[in-house]
Amino acid sequence: MAEAIKQVVPATEKWIDVSVGLHSGMVHWPDNPPIELEFVMQLDKGDGCNVSKLSMGTHSATHMDAPLHFFEDGASIDTMPLSTTIGRARVIEIHDPESIKPTELEQYDIRVGERILFKTSNSLRAWQPDRFVEDFVYISKEAAQYVAGRKIQLVGVDYLSVGGYHADGAAIHRALLGANIWIIEGLNLAQVQPGEYELICLPIKLLGHEGAPARALLKPVLG
Ligand SMILES: [Zn+2]
Repeated sequence: MAEAIKQVVPATEKWIDVSVGLHSGMVHWPDNPPIELEFVMQLDKGDGCNVSKLSMGTHSATHMDAPLHFFEDGASIDTMPLSTTIGRARVIEIHDPESIKPTELEQYDIRVGERILFKTSNSLRAWQPDRFVEDFVYISKEAAQYVAGRKIQLVGVDYLSVGGYHADGAAIHRALLGANIWIIEGLNLAQVQPGEYELICLPIKLLGHEGAPARALLKPVLG
């Protein structure tokens, strides 16, 4: 029996959790609601079970953006085709310390329909403090237009927004969402090397809303 379990476990261990853990008081976009996660019923206080209450904005921690985030008649998160976030994805490592630019992307031959996750210095640097990091690496407007032109289906970034805090976040979101590119924000890719992966990322099914928290997993594609 122990042997049989041994054979099963390694395959599942290959999945790497690239989501950020949720906890009270954690970092969030400055004008978004705080994250509050607390027990409201507790066994050790005489309640019949443990029950928690969660309060947060939909764009905190690891989450997805739907077109409705920036377009009044855009698609809501619950209508996202599941195939958007289940399948082959490519992790591209970005060395530019300020932003993702077309000049750095040109060498990667980004193709129609790809799922692209950008690993930047944010993964190692920006998730450490429980305070908002203003100078995180973001997708420049030019790079957003570049990947929109390549007609990718999904883009993922390793901090809270595709757009920069001091750059034109709205224009960058519109360039991506307006090109039918769904967005994952708030990944932590510190444990992931650049390359090909199987991706599973599923946002919570919030009916008619513009974004939702998500769990994201990657498994290396061998060979
Ligand atoms: Zn968002």
